[in-house]
Amino acid sequence: MPGDRRPPLDSPRAGSYIGRMPSAERHGSPKPERDLSGIQPSGELHLGNYFGAIQQHLELQHEHPGEAFFFIANYHALTTTRDRELLRQRTLDVALDYLALGLDPEKAVLFRQSDVPEVCELSWLLATVTPVSLLEKGVSYKEKVQRGIPASAGLLTYPLLMAADILIYRATVVPVGEDQVQHIEFTRDMAGFFNNAYGRGEEILHLPVARFSPGKKVPGLDGQKMSKSYGNTITIFEEGKSLEKKVMGIKTASIPLGEPLDPETDTVFALYRLVATPDEVEEMARRYRSGAIGFGQAKKELLEKLDAHFAEARERRRALVANLDRVEEILAEGARRARAIARETLDRCRDAVGIL
Ligand code: ATP
Ligand code: MG
Repeated sequence: MPGDRRPPLDSPRAGSYIGRMPSAERHGSPKPERDLSGIQPSGELHLGNYFGAIQQHLELQHEHPGEAFFFIANYHALTTTRDRELLRQRTLDVALDYLALGLDPEKAVLFRQSDVPEVCELSWLLATVTPVSLLEKGVSYKEKVQRGIPASAGLLTYPLLMAADILIYRATVVPVGEDQVQHIEFTRDMAGFFNNAYGRGEEILHLPVARFSPGKKVPGLDGQKMSKSYGNTITIFEEGKSLEKKVMGIKTASIPLGEPLDPETDTVFALYRLVATPDEVEEMARRYRSGAIGFGQAKKELLEKLDAHFAEARERRRALVANLDRVEEILAEGARRARAIARETLDRCRDAVGIL
């Protein structure tokens, strides 16, 4: 965009905006903001996903009620999944998980990416104005290829589809973690290319801003960052024996009972901190430092806290599983709302390029 001065990408601060600030914050105007979060249906969600991302995403529905859009990125998942039943199941699981964790269909719009096929058409229109050299700079593309995922055209052009997802709903704010900052820059670039090529001075596609909202970094069973691909996760809806076995198996330092423990370097403590009240955390830290607690006992108390923290969500999930028709209804309603907006944006674009 001409005259657009973007801040450097290196070190965004928490809560800072990349791009322009949303208009409501700039002018105190009542114009509603719309935010959009995409979730890949790529496997069972874990505590890292929850405390690092989902929790912050769900807060947005209270910030922008009625304008918090969540889509389940099943088109995107096709770049790494070739199992149709698994993809179907995982797509539904994301819906169940988010609804159980508190997504309120009265405040948020939840839908499957594939229920709005218009994004694929917009993605094509964007492809015609985007240089290949931009896509080749994609950090996530390079990283995935390095990890051995075949370099399909889909993997390379992933940012085009992601940009289409954002632009088609005219999202104003996109919450991102560190790894997605570049994608939002790409999205703004692509919208700029399109507007320059076809806008005749008008903004056809709205440039979104990214809101940098890093969650807490959650350690896994082995003390490394909790990650599906490291096989060190505790999943959100795990319970009973299976949860117990995982918690009791968390790797800890070998320190004899009665000796002081360091809460700052311990995984059990780091997880406890996520699910206990500040007073409880302080008390636990005191017991660690004074040698009044051993790892075995700390694990038991962590287990109790995890059970209590997710009890309601587990209950809600069970109820949803017993009423899948309701879940389908929510997804259909979300798709209806999202698609109406998408159709409008796409028609403007089709008109601008001369195919409508
Ligand atoms: P993969 O192993 O395939 O990278 P993952 O388990 O790391 O999967 P992602 O799909 O990469 O999960 O992440 C989804 C979201 O959860 C992202 O916003 C990411 O930043 C966040 N996230 C993932 N793991 C953690 C973690 N251990 N701590 C905090 N946030 C996390
Ligand atoms: Mg990851």
